[in-house]
Amino acid sequence: MILETIEKMKTLSERSILELTSAHEAGAKVIGHYCLYSPSELAIAAGAISVPLCGTRNDPIPAAEEILPRNLCPLIKSSFGFAVTDTCPYFAISDFLVGDTTCDGKKKMFELLSEYKPMHVLQLPQNQDPETALPFWKNELYRLKERLETELDTVITQENLQKAIKLLNRERRVLKRLMDLSKNQPSPISGMDLLQIKFKLGFFPEKEDGLSLVEDIIKEIEDMVSEGVEGCSTSAPRILLTGVPVGLGSEKVVKLIEDCGGVVVCFESCGGYKKVYQVDEDADPMDALAKQYLSTPCSVMSPNTGRYDLLSQLIGDFHVDGVVDLTWQACHTYNVESYSIKKHVKEVHGLPFIQIETDYSDSDTEQLKVRVEAFLEMLG
Ligand code: SF4
Ligand code: SF4
Repeated sequence: MILETIEKMKTLSERSILELTSAHEAGAKVIGHYCLYSPSELAIAAGAISVPLCGTRNDPIPAAEEILPRNLCPLIKSSFGFAVTDTCPYFAISDFLVGDTTCDGKKKMFELLSEYKPMHVLQLPQNQDPETALPFWKNELYRLKERLETELDTVITQENLQKAIKLLNRERRVLKRLMDLSKNQPSPISGMDLLQIKFKLGFFPEKEDGLSLVEDIIKEIEDMVSEGVEGCSTSAPRILLTGVPVGLGSEKVVKLIEDCGGVVVCFESCGGYKKVYQVDEDADPMDALAKQYLSTPCSVMSPNTGRYDLLSQLIGDFHVDGVVDLTWQACHTYNVESYSIKKHVKEVHGLPFIQIETDYSDSDTEQLKVRVEAFLEMLG
């Protein structure tokens, strides 16, 4: 599907680095984040621009492998490779980095990364217990707040924090409205288009610009649906993609599913539905942030019961025909959790399930194609 607004967003987002550079030259500070557990609201309330820095491209990986072990998740190697090669403009322009002690590979990589830029690492609890983990996590957010205030020579006021919560809640509502369009049967938008829009939205230095573009896209698609114009084929099997984060450059499996005749109607992962919660605007801002961010249903938590609940909800809401669980090589938490996710999908929902373990390279594309084709045939 080629929609004018989608094309416009693709073009405009290419200008975002130029706008970010001008804002930086004019004195704005840029904070780079590496994980969904890091609340961007704190950076925004400190008057800074927040950018996501998780590596999604294969090209910087060989340079990273000169320092890091080869048998490591590609997301970690790609993120570190960008620093070593100085090839990511968003990393280059970042004044300060925020990481979380999520999985072992990432937390050890942050130790090395701190040699490149000033960095603050949030100690993430391993469970979501409201009695023990939540107070600890809240204290961690206070430590980050203080560090940002020192680094940026500012004070994060209650009022600015509330404004930042409202802004990011709005962004998440818009993202949810966009993703919910795929509840239509057939889906009016492909998974690849959804992926592009979601990914590019994260890089607009002026959030309102990106949000109004996405609102235009939603309007255009809603009009299309009400006029009965079909986006994707009615016979395309509807796939829910769960597992590791996917972005532009690491879209191999999404593309394969759609090239083989399926359509990804729902991304349960980090840049998708895991992200579209609302932070309580009426509670104390630090309490609300701590509570909502800690509840992120990621496999680094043990137990991670929220992922099963979220999957059950999405499988029903999006009328899914099959579930694909994408795991990056050497990602132990997602790989181990895949066994229980498979049981959940098959036993509770009676749906076909496939796990795909891969990396960012093209070396296995042909083998994966055979598996994906066979899976989709079974659904058809
Ligand atoms: S998958 Fe988990 S650890 Fe990785 S970025 Fe998302 S929340 Fe963080
Ligand atoms: S995909 Fe897995 S191994 Fe890679 S950074 Fe995320 S949790 Fe860690």
